[in-house]
Amino acid sequence: MRQRNKPWADDFLKEHRKLIIPNPSEYKGRWKDVFENDRPIHIEVGTGKGQFIVGMAKQYPDVNFIGIEIAKSIVVTAAQKVLAAENDNILLLNEDASDLREYFADNEIDGIYLNFSDPWPKNRHEKRRLTYKKFLEQYQKILNPSGKVIFKTDNRGLFEYSLVSLTDFGMNLEEVNLDLHAIEDTTNIMTEYEERFSAKGQPIYRLKASF
Ligand code: SAM
Repeated sequence: MRQRNKPWADDFLKEHRKLIIPNPSEYKGRWKDVFENDRPIHIEVGTGKGQFIVGMAKQYPDVNFIGIEIAKSIVVTAAQKVLAAENDNILLLNEDASDLREYFADNEIDGIYLNFSDPWPKNRHEKRRLTYKKFLEQYQKILNPSGKVIFKTDNRGLFEYSLVSLTDFGMNLEEVNLDLHAIEDTTNIMTEYEERFSAKGQPIYRLKASF
């Protein structure tokens, strides 16, 4: 995702510490206290500019959402969307999601969304793909046994890789959709990337899986 330098981003992060939570490892195992309710918690890895998480939070007011976005200049845009929508069931982390166990305790999370994750097409970068077994091990730890991993992408190679990786890991594939927009799914909230790729006529792939 294109990043623009935003000199105001540091001040914005300081002003909105209740939305973009600094030092999130301090809240590991206590996210329900931070939200001040007992609702299930879903996370999105690589939130981007926030369209998906804001749409989901509106559609599912009884679910709490945490978006994790490594790029400061992008997370502030997501935060502006959250503020404009006045969602009270979203928190954002401006952090590296490469080890989610730093931030979440075992079974603390009820759903994990991976949307248009970087494909890392070179074989030597396999370990960076968010559906590589090292990441699946983390998801299995933090995810409640009844929770799901939901993955959308336009990248056929990454999708095929992920089907194999999840199956080899022993996950149950509950949905494999090779053209998400060909079906009438009024519950599907589009991400920024999804809108862009589907406008070009590219199929969108989605899988849902559990451990
Ligand atoms: N999910 C959004 C969408 O579908 O429109 C953005 C997709 S974009 C290809 C991937 C996003 O993941 C970028 O915003 C990038 O900064 C973020 N990202 C990449 N690696 C990350 C990491 N290790 N931790 C958190 N975010 C990451």
